[in-house]
Amino acid sequence: MELNQLLGRIVDEVAPLRGSGVVADYIPALARVDPAHFGIAIADLEGRVRGVGDWQMPFSVQSISKVFTLALVLAGSDEALWRRVGREPSGNAFNSLIQLEHERGIPRNPFINAGALTVTDELISQVGDASGELLAFLRTESGNPDLRVDAEVSASEAAHADRNLALTHFMASYGNVRNPVATVLDQYVRQCSIEMSCRDLALAGRFLAAHGVRRDGSELLTRRQAKRVNAIMLTCGTYDAAGDFAYRVGIPGKSGVGGGILAIVPGRCAIAVWSPGLDARGNSVAGVAALDHFTTLTGWSIF
Ligand code: GLN
Repeated sequence: MELNQLLGRIVDEVAPLRGSGVVADYIPALARVDPAHFGIAIADLEGRVRGVGDWQMPFSVQSISKVFTLALVLAGSDEALWRRVGREPSGNAFNSLIQLEHERGIPRNPFINAGALTVTDELISQVGDASGELLAFLRTESGNPDLRVDAEVSASEAAHADRNLALTHFMASYGNVRNPVATVLDQYVRQCSIEMSCRDLALAGRFLAAHGVRRDGSELLTRRQAKRVNAIMLTCGTYDAAGDFAYRVGIPGKSGVGGGILAIVPGRCAIAVWSPGLDARGNSVAGVAALDHFTTLTGWSIF
């Protein structure tokens, strides 16, 4: 099936789901988004990008940022991070505290909030301005110099950060936070509040489909590292629904409570979908359905 035809078919298939689910409102600034939006974009290995629907409309990337901070940290320090963060699915909500005490302040994986806070802490130790480094990377890879932090969303998230503060303090009590808690929180909130469109995200995630090679041909991650980031996306990228996501979609994916999902077909393409209505686990209802149709119609599930 030709790509435009494929994208059109997916839009038709998910049309009845647009507006279903619930827009995240625990960060109040996210609650004002219209749940009926839907966009999808696909970037191939050559950096060509196509999309339909609201694919050029910026939205809050939220936890999708965690893929990129992980990649930047691994590029800078490789294995050192794994002394501080595990790589097992958590089976719990993304902002859960429950396993941290059992695991003595070592989060289960880099994609739940606790793990992502550790990754951000590590990136601060490496580069100082972690969110600035991230933004620069995303601008280059997406070719969009206008990418920015949404100040309203970051202020809103910072004002409602009790849970993330608790997670960071708790890990600090085990010695697993190197920088001041307030600095880690500030940088984490800024990275989550970056606004990107499906177009931008698909292009920025393309290096994961290209075995770690960036747009300019340089290597951000080795093949082994890229393989590993994709594996963690598959097993941990959609929180306590990672098993269901693998079952339905069958490719690495990372969701965010803004309603976006970045998915990777290794060796082929990066796909970004966006629809703000979320299911009970915090994943986009129409987004997961669109990816289910995508891998079914193309046969590009890794299974
Ligand atoms: N910034 C959000 C938080 O920390 C990210 C959560 C998400 O997208 N799942 O709660």
